[in-house]
Amino acid sequence: MSIYNAPAQDTAFVLDQLVEFDQLCQAMGLEEVNLELANVVVEEAGKLASEVLAPLNAVGDQNGARLDSDKVIETAGFSDAYQQYMENGWATLTAPEAFGGQALPNVVGTAINELWHSANMAFALCPMLTQGSIEALIAHGSDELKDQYLSRLVSGEWTGTMNLTEPNAGSDLAAVSTKAVPNGDHYLISGQKIYITWGDHQMTPNIVHLVLARLPDAPAGVKGISLFIVPKFLLDENGEPAELNDAKCISLEHKLGIHGSPTCTMSFGDNGGAVGYLVGEENKGLAYMFTMMNHARQSVGLQGLAISERAYQQAVAYAKERTQGSRKDGTKIPIIEHPDVRRMLMAMRSGCESMRALALVAAAEIDRSHIDGDQTAAKARVELLTPIVKGWMTEMANELTSLNIQVHGGMGFIEEAGAAQHYRDARILAIYEGTNGIQALDLIGRKTLSDNGAALADLLDEMAGIEADLRACGLDKMANRFVASVLRAREIREFILDRAAADRTVDGCGRVRFLNADGLPNGSLLNGKRGHSCKSPNRCRIKLLR
Ligand SMILES: Cc1cc2nc3c(=O)[nH]c(=O)nc-3n(C[C@H](O)[C@H](O)[C@H](O)COP(=O)(O)OP(=O)(O)OC[C@H]3O[C@@H](n4cnc5c(N)ncnc54)[C@H](O)[C@@H]3O)c2cc1C
Repeated sequence: MSIYNAPAQDTAFVLDQLVEFDQLCQAMGLEEVNLELANVVVEEAGKLASEVLAPLNAVGDQNGARLDSDKVIETAGFSDAYQQYMENGWATLTAPEAFGGQALPNVVGTAINELWHSANMAFALCPMLTQGSIEALIAHGSDELKDQYLSRLVSGEWTGTMNLTEPNAGSDLAAVSTKAVPNGDHYLISGQKIYITWGDHQMTPNIVHLVLARLPDAPAGVKGISLFIVPKFLLDENGEPAELNDAKCISLEHKLGIHGSPTCTMSFGDNGGAVGYLVGEENKGLAYMFTMMNHARQSVGLQGLAISERAYQQAVAYAKERTQGSRKDGTKIPIIEHPDVRRMLMAMRSGCESMRALALVAAAEIDRSHIDGDQTAAKARVELLTPIVKGWMTEMANELTSLNIQVHGGMGFIEEAGAAQHYRDARILAIYEGTNGIQALDLIGRKTLSDNGAALADLLDEMAGIEADLRACGLDKMANRFVASVLRAREIREFILDRAAADRTVDGCGRVRFLNADGLPNGSLLNGKRGHSCKSPNRCRIKLLR
């Protein structure tokens, strides 16, 4: 079983040097929040992650969730871990104070979410989806719905799910066919949703499903989809869970990975209709879902970093222990001393560091986009970075978890070693929350062609400024490669702009390559640092393996 230690120092470095965390907090009006506090919070979270959640990761893989009659029973130990997570207030970190949250910046929540996902991604999916439900309700729910559901979701007392996918509506949500029929102060929902993560479990006394459905007279396509809250248990007059709603899990998927995360087929309305409450206005459901997409997609990108970091730590530990070959004096050589193994480890380490930088810089842009005043530039940057965070970081996770297997040699292929679990678990990341094909389509269509490449040009201009920082640190070779990468990204941008309108196959076939070129480690999309000069050059050099 692989151990896990939170990379607190690396996180602190990115928060300080790249995010400029103290300045961000000042701009957000958070006078009591600073880097020191953030570092303490990350270290504390690291204890729960490494001591409680990480040891349950392999347990969840080997003893996944199971369906017992109509109830999903989660992996033994998950419920206790969840209680600790909730009772220590981790669920409340970034939510607004008005609903019982601690109102810390999104970037701190992101840094901490990395730890949960590294420790146990299958478990951490449950709070991740709850965070998405909270965002949707804050942005679009009525006061009454907020009163009834928000504080219990924020505290973690109840969990949330997202019910979008149907057998015929995957990437194309225009095909959603679940029905919602008005019935007094509520709607009756009927239909089937598939692949619903944590659609049922026994860890909390209620589950709040957010469900996309269509009214009887709704327009066809995406303009006819509405969003509903469908609680597992209906609330009584005191707001407590009471009668079981007409919504249940009817089967669990047998999956390649994340066995600890129940993936449910949910049936709504087998007995006349599940009671649902409209969120916001009728027919605007898909637009509401899109308002939370940036956060959700960045969360999945973050999972790519998290699982790669876990795999990297495992690879280094194994490479220090495993010996192959002898020195002249007869002593055995740990494989970490073999150049090819070091190459793989350095690729993993630099990949993780690049991803962490991108993830936290992008998360901080979400914070900046919410600061009062004109935040047009920050909003454009969030929009641009989101498909790159989701797409590139999840492609990287496939590569880096595969390298972990390679470092292990034959043992990597043997389940007992645990490297295989990370590889299997990582495979879903390029698929859910919009496949990477859909991310690439978004990056080219909505984020590049739509503004004639302006946001991307701004980013590449900012990135070009990093060359001087690298040279000032004596990193000329790295600077040369970096300049070449930025140049290549500019060329691809121009090629796409020149050709895409006239030739749709250029647009269609080049998308994923374009997405990966924008994220490549040599040119990782670090914020241009707004005039940053390196405060600690030694930290900028490729560090010795931990
Ligand atoms: C473990 C797991 C957990 C999940 N959790 C949830 C959840 O909690 N809630 C939820 O609602 N859903 C969930 N999903 C569903 C997930 O989001 C979808 O599987 C995903 O969006 C892809 O849809 P699909 O499976 O129908 O694939 P399809 O849409 O059939 O895609 C198949 C292929 O076609 C490509 N493709 C499709 N359309 C286009 C296009 N227009 N242009 C280019 N390429 C295209 C795709 O990129 C992909 O390569 C989960 C899925 C899994 C496996």
